[in-house]
Amino acid sequence: MKKEATYPDFMWATLKWPEIAERLKVVDTAILPCGAIEQHGPHLPLDVDFFDADYMARKVAEACQDPKPFVLPPIPYGVSYHHSEFKGTICVSNDGLSALVYDIGMSLAHNGIKKLVILNGHGDNAPTLKYAAQMINRDAKIFVCVETGETSDVDLYGLIETRNDIHAGEIETSTTLALRPELVDMDKAVDDTLDLDNEFLDFTSDRGVSWYVHTKTLTKSGVMGNAKLATAEKGHKMWEIIIRKMAEFVETIKNTPSDKLYQNRY
Ligand SMILES: [Zn+2]
Repeated sequence: MKKEATYPDFMWATLKWPEIAERLKVVDTAILPCGAIEQHGPHLPLDVDFFDADYMARKVAEACQDPKPFVLPPIPYGVSYHHSEFKGTICVSNDGLSALVYDIGMSLAHNGIKKLVILNGHGDNAPTLKYAAQMINRDAKIFVCVETGETSDVDLYGLIETRNDIHAGEIETSTTLALRPELVDMDKAVDDTLDLDNEFLDFTSDRGVSWYVHTKTLTKSGVMGNAKLATAEKGHKMWEIIIRKMAEFVETIKNTPSDKLYQNRY
């Protein structure tokens, strides 16, 4: 019992190879958490995106029915060049990350994984992870998707008051207060809400286009949003929604046969 609680049997890396071989007969779905180590304002730790992606993957697997999807060891580093003017940020290149994710995906397919859910905790990894996902699908013909909050963002934006709250603001500060309050310096939390005054550049607008910018040119603190409005209570509500909606999605993928997901039909 104790072993199960510490090392649940959906965690890929703590299983032995004969155990994995048995589980692969009944589960063909794996979750790969991807994060970043980058500045999150003066009040949050550097590992928010990495910690959150890893935590979320485990909680989503726990929330799924048996047999639960595999959870892979997380990739801690991401594409964070735009935060590099702030100390502590470690960035890897788009080419480096996509090559790593491609290799992991191809190796998973070789093991028998037929559905790969890339759980992305860092928005600016998305283009790179989507590129890798396309290449894995092209070459291994397995189902691959990238989730960067799409399953619950609409609900989270309904819970907050801040526009353009995209980095270390009301959302991320609340979710961190809920899980690791000892790492949050609320006395250093600032309101650096972006007023872009253009609905096409607005990061959370339905009409927003993708564009790229070095963070330092937008904010001195590194925050984009209003960290002052964050509370642990909001964070707990957010986590409940994030985990429930993502588990619904993963459950659907897991329970749908590969050919019904339009893979390898010919
Ligand atoms: Zn973040």
